[in-house]
Amino acid sequence: MTEALCPGTNPEPPLMGWLPGARRVVSPNFDARPDGEAVKLVVIHAISLPPEEFGGTGILEFFTNQLNPSEHPYYKEIHALRVSAHFLIRRDGELIQLVSCADRAWHAGASCWSGRARCNDFSIGIELEGSDDQTFRDAQYATLNSLLTRLRSDWPIEAVLGHSDIAPGRKTDPGPCFEWSRIEIQRHESDDEPRHSLAK
Ligand SMILES: [Zn+2]
Repeated sequence: MTEALCPGTNPEPPLMGWLPGARRVVSPNFDARPDGEAVKLVVIHAISLPPEEFGGTGILEFFTNQLNPSEHPYYKEIHALRVSAHFLIRRDGELIQLVSCADRAWHAGASCWSGRARCNDFSIGIELEGSDDQTFRDAQYATLNSLLTRLRSDWPIEAVLGHSDIAPGRKTDPGPCFEWSRIEIQRHESDDEPRHSLAK
């Protein structure tokens, strides 16, 4: 029997930018990073679909362009958007990867950091299942910290910021319930000059 006939028995081949420990739900909402662009920034987001509801299929349907506009009034507003982060961390801490870190996921939109626009070009987006009004779970912080450690080993990451930091006035996520003190890589709040808080 050839390997092709029994794919379930073979380990997944390593692929550029995909983490072996994450469940893959592949999104089409990405394209190539600009030539020579390294990942320097991690952007933390929060999302719940329907809003304030957890555990459903809405987020993954949204990020894979399968949201049914008739299922919820809010879905009518957003179903045609073409967006995705690289990662989603669910309430129970499950890590799902939607886009290779080597590619540019469409997560940040109009944004600016360190004097540069278009943060998608040089960032990795991580969505936490959550909202502005509800605390995040211990399991989510644990998965996030493991993920940040891994990303830091793979890329020259200079900062970890919230979506609200790079798109102020337009975005509020991850919101006031996100406890920055619980992540192990320090954030940078202003964009005046490059910082090096990762150096220990
Ligand atoms: Zn966001």
